[in-house]
Amino acid sequence: MKKKTLLLNPGPVTLTESVRLALQKEDLCHREVEFADLQKSIIQKLKNVYPESSKTHTPILLTGSGTSAVESMLQSLCPKEKPVLILANGVYGERMASMLSMQQKPFDVISFDWKESIDLNKLENALKEKSYAYIITVHHETTTGRLNDIASIAEIAKKYSVPILLDSVSSFGGEWIDLSKWNIACLAATANKCLHSVPGISFVIPRNDLLEKEKTHSTSLYLDFFKYYENQKTGFSPFTQSVHALYALDQALEEFHDAGGWQERNTFYYKKTHFLMKAFSEMGIKLFLENEEIYSGVLVSFFLPKEIRYEPLHDHLKENGFIIYAGQGNFQGHIFRIAVMGDVSMLDLERLISVMKNFLSMPHHS
Ligand SMILES: *Cc1c(COP(=O)(O)O)cnc(C)c1O
Repeated sequence: MKKKTLLLNPGPVTLTESVRLALQKEDLCHREVEFADLQKSIIQKLKNVYPESSKTHTPILLTGSGTSAVESMLQSLCPKEKPVLILANGVYGERMASMLSMQQKPFDVISFDWKESIDLNKLENALKEKSYAYIITVHHETTTGRLNDIASIAEIAKKYSVPILLDSVSSFGGEWIDLSKWNIACLAATANKCLHSVPGISFVIPRNDLLEKEKTHSTSLYLDFFKYYENQKTGFSPFTQSVHALYALDQALEEFHDAGGWQERNTFYYKKTHFLMKAFSEMGIKLFLENEEIYSGVLVSFFLPKEIRYEPLHDHLKENGFIIYAGQGNFQGHIFRIAVMGDVSMLDLERLISVMKNFLSMPHHS
């Protein structure tokens, strides 16, 4: 039998067998009461991921990958009349600027080198000069593995009374998110990263007062989350949701909570990435960012050693059952990334290390 391939890319992730089996539940019409029960169950379980915010924020389910949730958040909340400020230090921050420019909404972007952290002085200077509707940024910048310091950004944002819109696609369920204290007006996330479900369902989590008081700013019919919110009150949805992906997400959330919620997942992720950092360092492979502490638990990035090209490394690991991930943009060919989300054990990673050692010992690895 062919060995199961493990996904060590940052989503989609390796599923547990029980989540995969949930996809086979019976066909269901999205206008029937059983569908409403399923959506309500998922919404409750999503609220329980960070129960501190269950009274102030409400998850809204969408069919689409993480990008659709990010785009829905910007569509629905960013106004035409007042600019927003984007802080970008990677692919995903820059992508939100592209979205706003396609939506023809006013924004400023402070772009940092993708290896750098977000400079808080630049943020404060921008806020002194102009009045913004929102500050928009990425929690875990998957481009490099950096966990942006949202608590510090939020402290400055609060001084100027500007709420935050957060791309939490690769941190939701795996890292601590303080929606109230950080003054998060809305976040966007997905089923198929730290929640370990299948791709197909994503969600936004706006603050309740926005849902009740604000009118939509959406120029898209499909991505207007206010419309979903109205339907969701009775358990339904304006359009066909990916029913089978919802079955899987309900099961994945059950397993998430049974295993101890985000804290347990966070602890296990860090255990895995720190194991990889140590093992790779012993092989002479260097961390890409400046030190261990600034990484999320979700993903780690390494410099490709000079004598090694990415493709043969990728192919050798793939032949042995592991999918790793290349660098994006300017980092292509210079780095590789390993994510530890999904059904991946310490034993799996120990085997990865021995396959890696085997690759390094081969005479022609380029
Ligand atoms: C993966 C990712 C996305 C995009 O999600 P898709 O599911 O690929 O659409 C957006 N933002 C961040 C930070 C991500 O890691």
